[in-house]
Amino acid sequence: MIVVMNHNADKADIDRILQKLTDAGFQIHLSRGVEKTIIGAIGDKTRLGDLSLEAMPGVEKVVPILQPYKLASRAYMNSSTVVKVGDLEIGGDSIQVMAGPCAVESRDQLLKSAMLVREAGATMLRGGAYKPRTSPYSFQGLEEKGLELLAEARELTGLRIVTEVMDASTIELVAKYADVLQIGTRNMQNFFLLRQVARTGKPVLLKRGSSSTIEEWLLAAEYILAEGNRNVILCERGVRTFENYTRNTLDLTAVPVVKYLSHLPVIVDPSHAIGKWRFVEPMARAAIAAGADGLLIEVHPNPAEALCDGPQSLTPENFKALMQNIGAIAEVTGRNMGRIQ
Ligand code: PEP
Ligand code: MN
Repeated sequence: MIVVMNHNADKADIDRILQKLTDAGFQIHLSRGVEKTIIGAIGDKTRLGDLSLEAMPGVEKVVPILQPYKLASRAYMNSSTVVKVGDLEIGGDSIQVMAGPCAVESRDQLLKSAMLVREAGATMLRGGAYKPRTSPYSFQGLEEKGLELLAEARELTGLRIVTEVMDASTIELVAKYADVLQIGTRNMQNFFLLRQVARTGKPVLLKRGSSSTIEEWLLAAEYILAEGNRNVILCERGVRTFENYTRNTLDLTAVPVVKYLSHLPVIVDPSHAIGKWRFVEPMARAAIAAGADGLLIEVHPNPAEALCDGPQSLTPENFKALMQNIGAIAEVTGRNMGRIQ
């Protein structure tokens, strides 16, 4: 439930409502806007009738929320969330492109990737130091060494770093190096991990589970928001369907649907969705046309030699072409391409 206070409600009015809701066992989330204060209350709605909140001074209206997620909903916050990563904004007018290899493999590979994607116009560098591989025999990542290389690449290029956290034991370490913590598709419903990652206060890139509904995805985001961390970026990365020509099926409907249901920014990862480099660019264009706030794209200086996800990785030349074409689409949709200051 949401209590919208009217614009002349004072602190005493707000405190009175907070006290009443807390006494009735509701969990409170306060959002003080420039014009209005909004109080989100989560708890047993059957107790609401007895509270007569609408009769209290300063209350404009009480709105019940029917969706199971509350803090993630547009009903809770109508204005779109803009997540700040340093001076970059995700969810604002600018499209941010996060690009780089699937995995950090070596100093040479990472620094080359960073310089090339920076030159083509990306604002963030991606790269896994801890890799969730389907087979235990596949390359598992360079771990802390990989994180150090990501930090070195940031130093060198000014790109912000997004990298995956796979389990709670490494959160502190990953958070020490990363600007954005990525939760991968396999962990979207690892609720303990979501809570712990949220508590770092760092922006979280939450990938959609490969078999998750939009509601389950937004409920996963709710776990992070409920810990007081408002910096959630959703990432559509394809879902599993009967189609097996592509790695997954890119659910682009998720972009406008999530933007309608939620105030959180949404980006699209066509690389993991499609799994074949040839189709990454057209779907990246479609994602921007559909209203995505950014892209996550795998780029490798030499995809044929990649230790992970080579078949879906773009060459630097193909990435450059993608960036130019994305720029044109961003412009016709009234957006612009993010830049590093
Ligand atoms: C990745 O971004 O490299 C990755 C492992 O993605 P996902 O969790 O979407 O499979
Ligand atoms: Mn990958």
